[in-house]
Amino acid sequence: MSQPEFDASQLPTLFLSHGGPNVVTDESPARRFYETLAADLPTPKAVVIMSAHFETDGVAVVTDPTPEMIYDFGGGFASELFEMVYPAPGEPDLAERIFSMLSDKALSPSRMPHRGYDHGAWTMMRLLYPDADIPIVQVSIDPSRDAAWHHRIGEALAPLRDEGVLLIGSGHITHNLRAVFTEMSSGKPVPQSFTARVDAFTDWFEEAIEKGGTRLLAWKQEAPFVADNHPTDEHLMPIFFAHGAAGPQATGRRIHHSRVGGALTFDVYRFD
Ligand code: ZN
Repeated sequence: MSQPEFDASQLPTLFLSHGGPNVVTDESPARRFYETLAADLPTPKAVVIMSAHFETDGVAVVTDPTPEMIYDFGGGFASELFEMVYPAPGEPDLAERIFSMLSDKALSPSRMPHRGYDHGAWTMMRLLYPDADIPIVQVSIDPSRDAAWHHRIGEALAPLRDEGVLLIGSGHITHNLRAVFTEMSSGKPVPQSFTARVDAFTDWFEEAIEKGGTRLLAWKQEAPFVADNHPTDEHLMPIFFAHGAAGPQATGRRIHHSRVGGALTFDVYRFD
């Protein structure tokens, strides 16, 4: 497979709210947005993606040259989703460099020689780059670590932006699956009072990010309704990676905002 010409200008970093695997098949504002997002970006030489569905103890870097598929979702989803493949190659040389960059910052990475694409990675890449012709290196989250630690992982990899590498964090700006599933199974929307707490949380992030600086790292202390929106932290960690990877002078803006039902929000941030 020949690789497309890449554009050498500095790339932004992205935070994507990935939804369920059905984001690639079901009509939604988020899906339409993701299908057009790459047209606004320089073509990258490679993508580094941190998915909330790749959890390890410490940070791991995937060196697999040919990652397979991971169908890490339940049987309630359409069978076609279990047959989808996304055959983008890995890039072991870049993975080794990432390993060194993280080691140099005393972040104690590990290598993972075999690891496929989880749905937080392949659904997003399939929507952004359907030709699967851009190599991908996956890095993990550590759910026992906080926002500042994931931010440092991003900071360590920030120089890659000047080399045609697109750094992506794939998680969710809100992720209360209990509320989402209750809404889906009952067919009744969550109460308006709950949706107001979702909006207050996403508004806090938008303001913290658009003002600049590192206020968002204090989200657990300062953001409203943390427990309602993130009963566990892991789906938010990739936003701190994307923010750190954009460097200290980065400016961030929310480039997409939509909600499915009253609880699941698909905010997307771009950091330049
Ligand atoms: Zn997820």
